[in-house]
Amino acid sequence: MSITNNLNKIKSELPKEVTLVAVSKTKPNEAILEAYDGGQRIFGENKVQELTQKHEDLPKDIEWHIIGHLQSNKVKYIAPFVKLIHAVDSFKLLLEINKQGQKNGRIIDCLLQVKIAQEESKFGLDFDEAEFLFTEARNLASLNIVGFMGMATFTDNKDQLKNEFKSLNNFFEQFRTQHPQITTLSMGMSGDYHTAIEQGSTMIRVGSAIFGERNYI
Ligand SMILES: *Cc1c(COP(=O)(O)O)cnc(C)c1O
Repeated sequence: MSITNNLNKIKSELPKEVTLVAVSKTKPNEAILEAYDGGQRIFGENKVQELTQKHEDLPKDIEWHIIGHLQSNKVKYIAPFVKLIHAVDSFKLLLEINKQGQKNGRIIDCLLQVKIAQEESKFGLDFDEAEFLFTEARNLASLNIVGFMGMATFTDNKDQLKNEFKSLNNFFEQFRTQHPQITTLSMGMSGDYHTAIEQGSTMIRVGSAIFGERNYI
């Protein structure tokens, strides 16, 4: 299967309210351009250096998302152009995004990463912490919390996936009814996006199902 075929197949199955982020990390510019020529405009990366390089090299109408853990000291490199930051998980990071947003005359859209996986994971907030950060962020003028992001346990167990995604969707729905700026629930990757969509995802982050397996060095 080619990148274009993979992309078209996924898009054809996607409900129209679900946004596809094509996760292009480790993939060369040619692969991204093939997806671009197939109509894809939203791409996600998880490393700041790779993201800034690709932003420089590739068409300027691409919307770049940073999807992975982000260190505060690297926000300045992406603040001029990043469209959405998926994995905000600390107050320190929020303050830095706000500062860099202000410097660049932008309001930067962000998602709070909530820990839903049962397996040990280093990153992500619990529900109480996410609520606290959301409240604090309302005082920060140069960023906008537009929703939440979660990663399920790496498992084939459908019931477990379903429960993990459902817990985040419940949280999301509760916020969405009270706060109109909350529009986005980023959950679902190549292995679990069907289940994530069934459980209310509005944004999936899909890499290997589009571009093929990644080779890490
Ligand atoms: C790599 C990555 C993805 C995409 O993973 P695939 O399994 O290749 O679809 C999604 N979200 C995050 C945060 C990632 O780092």
